[in-house]
Amino acid sequence: MGAGASGLVDDDTSESILSGTVPRKPPTSPVDAPTAAQRVVAGLSKVALVFRHAQWAASGERGLTPTQAQILAVVAGNREPRGVGVKAVAARMAVTMGTASEAVGALVEKGLLRKEADEADGRAVVLTLTARGKREATRASEWPGAIVEAVDAMPERERATLLRGLVGMVRTMQERGMVPTARMCVECQYFRPNEYPGEAKPHHCQYIGAPIGDADLRLDCAEMEPTGADADTPTRARLWEVFVNGQPLDQHGPGRNGRARPGVRASMSRRADHASTKGVSP
Ligand code: SF4
Repeated sequence: MGAGASGLVDDDTSESILSGTVPRKPPTSPVDAPTAAQRVVAGLSKVALVFRHAQWAASGERGLTPTQAQILAVVAGNREPRGVGVKAVAARMAVTMGTASEAVGALVEKGLLRKEADEADGRAVVLTLTARGKREATRASEWPGAIVEAVDAMPERERATLLRGLVGMVRTMQERGMVPTARMCVECQYFRPNEYPGEAKPHHCQYIGAPIGDADLRLDCAEMEPTGADADTPTRARLWEVFVNGQPLDQHGPGRNGRARPGVRASMSRRADHASTKGVSP
């Protein structure tokens, strides 16, 4: 016996509930319950919703689509001496060539971008910003204020944990070819994970010659140099393994005295350059 047609619990059942022999509510079936991963994705989708809305609102005010605004930010942030072409823009934004070409064409028409012949390869074209394009690019590079404020409102420790988790997610998506290669600490030859166990800033950046914590991890650092490119640096997999497992990389790191490894330049001017990029990109 259970709930009758009226939806009310009948006498037998209510007696059983009172005597503690049946649960008051049937437990949720484990088959139906969302997994932890699905719940995380549900949370991320809510953030993405706010993000998209903010992007459309900000770029729409200026007569741009979010893709066009992003292209301006990509061209402004380019550090390749040869400049950036449509193909590179498409790769960095993980969009098709067709989408990138169409948006670039619209930006040229609006007087925000210029197409110029590549000096090194006359057949190739590089993109440059006009004066107005530079102003728009600065605005396009700003993060949605509402999301930044929500992240700022988190306790510092939770924010650092969130960033650490996001770094792992981005790394996995990068490995699967879902996002362009990011210039992250966890793949950088200057990164020395867990050099100072138990400290608030347990890692070390050999570029700036200083300890860094999880909250300082970078996802797009201009000074990043990929690790594993030569025999003197650990492989990507090894660097990630020691980062995750909480062990120092080896006995030859900077150690507690903060000295850089031989051959690593950590001059004051580079430190100043590096500091100047903080806050500009994630
Ligand atoms: S140089 Fe940049 S990416 Fe490399 S460890 Fe330092 S902060 Fe991280």
